[in-house]
Amino acid sequence: MDTFDQNHIWHPYAKIPNEVKTHVVESADGVYLNLAGNKRVIDGMSSWWSAIHGYNHPTLNQAAQAQLGKISHVMFGGLTHEPAITLAKTLVDITPEHLSKVFFTDSGSVAVEAALKMALQYWHNQGQSKKHKFVTIRGGYHGDTFGAMSVCDPNNGMHHLFSGVLPKHYFVQSPSMVAMDEALQDLTLTLQQNADSIAAMILEPVVQGAGGMRIYNPQYLTRAKALCKQHNVLFILDEIATGFGRTGELFALEYVDVDPDILCLGKALTGGYMTLAATLTTDEIAQGVGTLMHGPTFMASPLACAVANASIELLLNSPWQDNIANIEAILNSELSSLRAHSKVADVRILGAIGVVELAEEINMEKVQNLLIEKGVWLRPYGKLLYTMPPFIISKQELLLVTKAIKAVIEEL
Ligand SMILES: *Cc1c(COP(=O)(O)O)cnc(C)c1O
Repeated sequence: MDTFDQNHIWHPYAKIPNEVKTHVVESADGVYLNLAGNKRVIDGMSSWWSAIHGYNHPTLNQAAQAQLGKISHVMFGGLTHEPAITLAKTLVDITPEHLSKVFFTDSGSVAVEAALKMALQYWHNQGQSKKHKFVTIRGGYHGDTFGAMSVCDPNNGMHHLFSGVLPKHYFVQSPSMVAMDEALQDLTLTLQQNADSIAAMILEPVVQGAGGMRIYNPQYLTRAKALCKQHNVLFILDEIATGFGRTGELFALEYVDVDPDILCLGKALTGGYMTLAATLTTDEIAQGVGTLMHGPTFMASPLACAVANASIELLLNSPWQDNIANIEAILNSELSSLRAHSKVADVRILGAIGVVELAEEINMEKVQNLLIEKGVWLRPYGKLLYTMPPFIISKQELLLVTKAIKAVIEEL
């Protein structure tokens, strides 16, 4: 561990000095991270959902290098460029038909902010300024900026810390935690009583990520969307984690072909190379929004857009559905039996996502050290030990990850 790092640099959700040891990464290739001290570990996290093609990929490297020789970044105010135009066309093409307008941002949280702003501005311009609240399901995660935080799970999010500052929104039961009908009933009641003040519903489709790694019945989405429509509430899907194949569909909304009014994308958008996100909406909403009051300095950065274009092309030209089906089958055959383990509360698997929820909180540092000894990088939190590997992971490599998970549970 680097002592300057420990004493001067904040890491995610950590204090200074960092209590949990950080590991120096010197380089990476394929599914491997090369840590200082000649330690080579398989990245079972895809750098938080993003590095779907693995690291140091020749195609993505080439795209970045080619773009560097032209222009790495330029302001998007008053100027435009081919990488952004190509990317916007592709995103419009591969997402649901009605989504035809694209707003680029520099991170997922900001894509969520833009989505919330779109909803607020839309209703404001319809003379419905009272519609300024949001409704969401419990257990969600939408980012760390203030608007995004305000729609994260109120219990395991950061609401207690910022309770005086965060606007109060409506939280309804999640279909990942209660029966679907009960969840829908809660949503129905909330909409019946409060739709006059609600601009939009926001939720992650099918898989709730950082809020608890929970999976729910996609049918909920169809019913929730219909309820929102009936009550004049916009429907925002946050596919920042689930987008680009992770759940086995290109977008999780495709499980039921639900049509969002607004869609947020990020994380795997550039194959994990650079920070870039996008918020898409319909022509009708774009017209209603008018001038969207947002414009990040690094909006639609050409370098990031060029790599995103290469990453999406690489994904769509690869047998990604087979790869993910194979990953899912291995996760099922290797991890399902843990359900019967006395230290395990639940096992959840969908697509290239495998989650083991333990009965007790995990000692992150201890588990991480054990995993690194076994050649695997995972980042457990709370009671969750989970993997969402790069799609290019081989069977042998994935078996090393699942074996390490099982061994670590024994050693806890
Ligand atoms: C990670 C994440 C975000 C926030 O994205 P950042 O790029 O970290 O700001 C928002 N929504 C979901 C569902 C995410 O998983």
